[in-house]
Amino acid sequence: MPGLKDQAQYIQDPEQPDRSLSFHAIACSGELKEQLIHSVLENKTPLLLAGEEGAGKHFIARRLAAAILCHQPDRSGGACGYCASCRMLRSGSHLDLIEIAPPDDKSSIPVASVRSQVAGTLQIYPQLGRNRVYVIEALKVDTLNEQGQNALLKPLEEHPGFVRFIILTEDADRLLSTIRSRSRMIRISRRSPDEIRQILEETGHGDQTAGLALRYADGLPGQALAMAQDANFRLLRDKAFNLFSRLPQSTRTDCLTGGLAFFKQERKELTVLLRVFESFLRDMLLLQNDMDPASLVNADLADDLDGMRHQEPAPNPAKAAELVRQTAGALSSNANFDHTVARMLLGLRAFLGGHPVTEQIFRSKESFY
Ligand SMILES: [Zn+2]
Repeated sequence: MPGLKDQAQYIQDPEQPDRSLSFHAIACSGELKEQLIHSVLENKTPLLLAGEEGAGKHFIARRLAAAILCHQPDRSGGACGYCASCRMLRSGSHLDLIEIAPPDDKSSIPVASVRSQVAGTLQIYPQLGRNRVYVIEALKVDTLNEQGQNALLKPLEEHPGFVRFIILTEDADRLLSTIRSRSRMIRISRRSPDEIRQILEETGHGDQTAGLALRYADGLPGQALAMAQDANFRLLRDKAFNLFSRLPQSTRTDCLTGGLAFFKQERKELTVLLRVFESFLRDMLLLQNDMDPASLVNADLADDLDGMRHQEPAPNPAKAAELVRQTAGALSSNANFDHTVARMLLGLRAFLGGHPVTEQIFRSKESFY
């Protein structure tokens, strides 16, 4: 079973308590932190953490679980960082922490896993302390399907007092209403630039890479860290810009062959890639509104973007950006990859190159499936 994804690798002294497990490590508004503290230390209702990909759900869930499992938690700080439970969590596994996520080679959690790992273990006493925590991934629409969610309903409703649940989702509206009604939802919203900067500095990314990561992250700490840690990020962005800048002059065939092939090749970076495309378009819009080129996300590409903006016929970056956002939403709901990406590329070609829009680019949500 994969561990709770924790991209933030804090530098730590083995002799010192591990502060990275505490609530202090969560860079967010005081209001959100207070809600989180209350949700683990004073309220035992199953917790539903909802937030976009990269919003820090896994990071926060790990600190909440640490606080629940810690033998001497502190009201404001959460986990102490040095008791037996905290040490076990630091070593990578914990007897009283059960994480339910899709197996490495699958995108969904088998319903049998929910039955055996949740329902089947519910009555067993905690082995190390007073509580046991289940962290359950229901991130995307099929991560935990309807059967799986149904198998979770009874445990959520009836469980021993020592059992605590934390469910992670990117879109709570896609969960069964019966799951939502049995849990208390906390939304993990985007962070301020200062909070993202703090996260990057604390994880040893205070250098130049941090600048680009900070501008790209757009309030999502997971994105910022992934980009700061990814030496290939700048290369990927440059390749993406190469494709993007040629779209207005490209033919339909170019889009359906080379363009689509590029997306297929970089498919595992899809979220980043769409974010990068959106950033090019947003920068074009900022230039249209006479913003200082230095304030662009892609400040180093300002001249090229400005050139694209002045092409004839005039491009429509606002429509293009809307299309990229709609595409991201459709792909996260399992729309057909080739079809959806091809339509986006053709749409971008039309909006950026002033070509006539020959087909219906924006459709109702249902037609994506
Ligand atoms: Zn502790």
